[in-house]
Amino acid sequence: MTLPLSLATVAVVLIYLHFYARVLRPAKTPLYRQIFNAATVILAVHAAGASIRYIDQLPILHLGDIDFIVLVFALLTYTVVNTSLVVGVVAMTTPDMTFAQTLVRRGEGVGVEIATLCLGALVAATVTITGPLTLLFTIPPLLLLHRTVLSRQLVQEARIDSKTGVLNSAAWHLEATQTLDRARHRANAALLLMIDLDRFKGINDTHGHLAGDEVLSAVGLVLRGQVRGADVVGRFGGEEFVMLMPNLDRRVGTAETTAIAQRVRLAIADIRVDIDSPEGPITLDTITASVGGAVYPHDGEAVTTLLARADKALYAAKRAGRNRVRLVDSAAGPHLGETDHETR
Ligand code: GH3
Ligand code: MG
Ligand code: MG
Repeated sequence: MTLPLSLATVAVVLIYLHFYARVLRPAKTPLYRQIFNAATVILAVHAAGASIRYIDQLPILHLGDIDFIVLVFALLTYTVVNTSLVVGVVAMTTPDMTFAQTLVRRGEGVGVEIATLCLGALVAATVTITGPLTLLFTIPPLLLLHRTVLSRQLVQEARIDSKTGVLNSAAWHLEATQTLDRARHRANAALLLMIDLDRFKGINDTHGHLAGDEVLSAVGLVLRGQVRGADVVGRFGGEEFVMLMPNLDRRVGTAETTAIAQRVRLAIADIRVDIDSPEGPITLDTITASVGGAVYPHDGEAVTTLLARADKALYAAKRAGRNRVRLVDSAAGPHLGETDHETR
């Protein structure tokens, strides 16, 4: 509202470069996301700029240099353009989330967003009236706002297991409970998988705990890659992971749940981890996991019940020879999920 569009674009680029260097690069957020975010802001800024010029031509009452209606119109244009671009692309690339669901999820950070926009509007108005020195008044509230964002980020980070990048056990339990509540409302089914790496102690004993940690980190990365929209993945403990996949049809059959569990197992079996050993670099390529699965609501209604039953199935998979899938129904019976194993 106070800068020409070319300078406004430069300002956005500078802000995002700083944000990337300070926050996102240390957090290993991919660069393309940041470029996308900056691009949506630049487009929104240009849209807001165009809207100001448009409304300025309309024969409405102008009370000051910057009219209240112009401010509101510019903020609305900015928000609508920015939000639709981000939410639209996220909804398009996340198959099982609708536009509305993505919008609700984004709405969780709406307080900070509104506060920032209001501050921007105040600055634009006062700078136009009293000149650029007024900018100094914005520094204390901005710092305070910055703190709010930082503490929100800390809360977010406290939910993540730093070694694997998936949710830690407590956060996973909380999210899994909420996810099952949603599945109950929507009359959906959900698949809970308990995943335990095979003979992991052997990797530690042979190659050292640092190599073991690298394997855990690689498994976390792969599991996060397997996740879709509403799926919840966490580290249960040591070398055990848990996944909850909601949004399944109530009539889901063993064939489908087994296929999902097999997909996860195969993704882990495909992992290659390069490590440095005293004899030179080597590649660990025999990482496997056993998987136990339980289905909501057929095998239980509560997270703890499902966990206990999936755990039993997991032990059946271990007893049957590891690197295989067992579901609750099949835990007592023979061979389900082994055909795939034998073809590898
Ligand atoms: P099984 O196929 O029966 O599951 O054998 P296992 O060796 O995987 O099972 P066990 O429970 O005997 O060993 C788990 C090992 O995981 C023991 C522990 O040292 C290791 N572990 C647990 N947490 C970590 C970790 O954060 N880093 C590393 N490097 N190792 C870990
Ligand atoms: Mg274990
Ligand atoms: Mg194990």
